[in-house]
Amino acid sequence: MTEVTDVIVVGGGLAGLVAATEIADAGKRVIVVDQEGEQSLGGQAFWSFGGLFLVDSPEQRRLGIKDSYDLALQDWMGTAGFDRDDDHWPKRWAEAYVAFAAGEKRDWLRAMGHRIFPVVGWAERGGYDAMGHGNSVPRFHVTWGTGPGIVEPFERRAREAQKNGRLTFRFRHRVDTLMTTNGAVDGVSGSVLEPDSVERGKSSSRKVVGDFTLRAQVVIVASGGIGGNHDLVRQNWPERLGEPPKFMISGVPEHVDGRMIGITEAAGARLINRDRMWHYVEGIQNWNPIWPRHGIRILPGPSSMWFDASGKRLPAPLFPGSDTLGQLQYIMGTGYEYSWFILTQSIIKKEFALSGSEQNPDLTGKSWRMTIKRATNKGAPAPVEAFKKNGADFIVRDNLADLVSAMNALAGSDLLKHDHIKAQIEARDREITNPYVKDAQVMNLHNARRYIGDKLIRTAKPHRILDPDHGPLIAVKLNILTRKTLGGFETDLDSRVFGTDRQIIRGLYAAGEAAGFGGGGVHGYRSLEGTFLGGCLFSGRNAGRAAAKAVG
Ligand SMILES: Cc1cc2nc3c(=O)[nH]c(=O)nc-3n(C[C@H](O)[C@H](O)[C@H](O)COP(=O)(O)OP(=O)(O)OC[C@H]3O[C@@H](n4cnc5c(N)ncnc54)[C@H](O)[C@@H]3O)c2cc1C
Repeated sequence: MTEVTDVIVVGGGLAGLVAATEIADAGKRVIVVDQEGEQSLGGQAFWSFGGLFLVDSPEQRRLGIKDSYDLALQDWMGTAGFDRDDDHWPKRWAEAYVAFAAGEKRDWLRAMGHRIFPVVGWAERGGYDAMGHGNSVPRFHVTWGTGPGIVEPFERRAREAQKNGRLTFRFRHRVDTLMTTNGAVDGVSGSVLEPDSVERGKSSSRKVVGDFTLRAQVVIVASGGIGGNHDLVRQNWPERLGEPPKFMISGVPEHVDGRMIGITEAAGARLINRDRMWHYVEGIQNWNPIWPRHGIRILPGPSSMWFDASGKRLPAPLFPGSDTLGQLQYIMGTGYEYSWFILTQSIIKKEFALSGSEQNPDLTGKSWRMTIKRATNKGAPAPVEAFKKNGADFIVRDNLADLVSAMNALAGSDLLKHDHIKAQIEARDREITNPYVKDAQVMNLHNARRYIGDKLIRTAKPHRILDPDHGPLIAVKLNILTRKTLGGFETDLDSRVFGTDRQIIRGLYAAGEAAGFGGGGVHGYRSLEGTFLGGCLFSGRNAGRAAAKAVG
């Protein structure tokens, strides 16, 4: 017999969990369907760094940061660069989302037990003018407990709803079709996959052992993006970023397969901005991988020198942590798919953070003792030191000549010339003596260190790269790492999905990455960071609340 409920949510990631808990708390019945096993509940958010975009928060104020809705909206619009007819709903979502981030987001989470690490990070710093790309001020609030800490409140609410019978999980159920009656979506059907006790994040079996059908008045698609499927990434790769890279590493598990996007399109949904995506250029191959092609993104502080494959320093303002897609565009324009950081032990110690809950056991484990060691330890945090020792992309040497020859050996070429690199580093090093300088990156370091948070834990004291007292020298080969999908299903502010005829499809809602985090592309072309988890919270909440109202 076909099971009938009020609402079906496809996807037990953060967006799906938020939507489902809102529905259950509104007294309606909801079934959450996920192709993965119970051990993977929470999807990508579990693996995330837990960074959240908040505006004018008490944490910012305590650190002397003056932020406001107007400043944040100016940054968002300058970053998004909305320029298409299809940007009508994304722009409305952007305005609403920035208001959420400046308003009830923090208190809503706090009431559920969510807590924030007190030093606010400064991601995507831009470097153009006030109306251009980037955060004017630090806004990246790291969840105390990282990814698991953001999933926790919603998993707890879901488990409570499960106990009182309002919420049911169907794990290892893969949706293959959205069902429609008289133009309205009213159910899903698909395959039951064989049980698999594989560890969270690892690829699970796709062997089909049965089928299923579920019926409901509303279906919410919260199935994530396409980052784990490199063929889809390449198919949708925009011309403005050059040719799609031949070699990429994956910043997301394999279940981020984008399959449900095609299934939802087949039901008539309108997918917009599919050429907008957010991939990183500071990817390193994980020496201890969990998922296929597993890569980790370095969240770099501002001091490393950045060179392209031929050894030319990246132009201003493409410094570490300034403009992710500007860097991607530049690198793809060089004809090579990789680039290099050159830095010192003093820089790696203070400035390298690795994105991912498992790479930050101190913050993930909520250990103050371990976290304080970040500031007081001689070496970098243990996971960073482990990469330095075991990572295929890391080279450590005592002098520049040896470093450059090892870099050439790793790249399998002789593109890098020692004299060329040395001249550029020495020129930069001569700028370190004065606190007022010409070199834009060094100027940037002085600016960063005027922010107490950066001075404390994020920006090394300016020093000469070739000063042996700050050595050894380190080079890191940086790869392109796939992560987020910025386009998605066009939705109104209630997360209701539009059809290709521009009319709302009755019964169909979308949230999270599948909805471009709201509207079909709330970020426009670029992101300010910490906006993805936040986008899941906001769009999942809107979808859940609206769906609960819609079912009688
Ligand atoms: C390492 C890492 C670090 C990150 N750090 C940050 C950060 O600090 N700040 C930030 O804002 N963002 C961060 N992100 C991004 C953020 O975590 C994701 O964008 C977000 O969690 C996506 O959530 P989602 O619910 O939309 O999708 P997902 O988490 O992908 O969940 C979708 C679920 O749908 C299921 N599914 C898919 N298709 C089907 C189908 N056909 N049938 C049934 N089930 C299906 C999948 O199995 C999955 O469980 C990070 C991501 C990663 C991987």
